[in-house]
Amino acid sequence: MAESLRLLVFGAHPDDAEYLTGGLTALYSQLGHKVLWVSLTNGDAGHIDTAGAHLARRRRQEAANAAAAVGAESLVLDHHDGTLMPTLELRHEVIRIMREFKPDLVMAHRPNDYHPDHRYTGVVVQDAINMVIVGNLVPFAPALRYIPVMMYLWDHFQKPYPFIPDVVVDVDAVQEKKLDALHCHTSQMYEFIFGKTEDIPPAERREWLRSQVEPDLAPIANLYRQQLIELYGKERGEKVRYAEAFEVCEYGGPLTEEKRQRFFPFYS
Ligand SMILES: [Zn+2]
Repeated sequence: MAESLRLLVFGAHPDDAEYLTGGLTALYSQLGHKVLWVSLTNGDAGHIDTAGAHLARRRRQEAANAAAAVGAESLVLDHHDGTLMPTLELRHEVIRIMREFKPDLVMAHRPNDYHPDHRYTGVVVQDAINMVIVGNLVPFAPALRYIPVMMYLWDHFQKPYPFIPDVVVDVDAVQEKKLDALHCHTSQMYEFIFGKTEDIPPAERREWLRSQVEPDLAPIANLYRQQLIELYGKERGEKVRYAEAFEVCEYGGPLTEEKRQRFFPFYS
């Protein structure tokens, strides 16, 4: 069996890693790799008519269930939703998490994403990625002796520059698992993002959710169709319906050709 890899994904909210890496995470789990999803906020503002500690506890459990649905683990930090700031304390917290998990690959939002929590997650993680080797910072968490590769999560924002896909992964084979993970986020999928859905019977919710999220997820494969054809060959590349895309952050370690093949062994 190939060497086990460790993927560490930082999202701003409980459900970001699910949307943007749920497919890759499921593929990694199938290969025996270890994935940890970290949410830098506790999600305590993400609801129409509830908030605070009760919502944070509920969302932490939803995130744990979602991660389990794709064979990953979840860590939700206790920072308030909608108020995240790129502080030195948060940078040190992220350095500690990286050092303890010892990732091969780290992922986070771009600092150009739309939501301030997403932007500051990107800023903090890219500020931390190089500092994991500096032992005098966060001295009680032993420094890593290498800088992990870091990649940005997909977004569609154009300024100051649009997302550049360095890697595009066909996730059709695990799209149902990704939907399983999103389905675990009851407070978001059925009570907030798409409005309240009390009139939909529980047994019909998951199919209803598919009709809501798949139109949002489908454009990625179409945007990067040419790369999919180059990576997977014409026949398969043309057929991919759902893909996930990642862009190298140049502050992390280099994604060498050897690492590209080891981290993304999906191409024919
Ligand atoms: Zn988010």
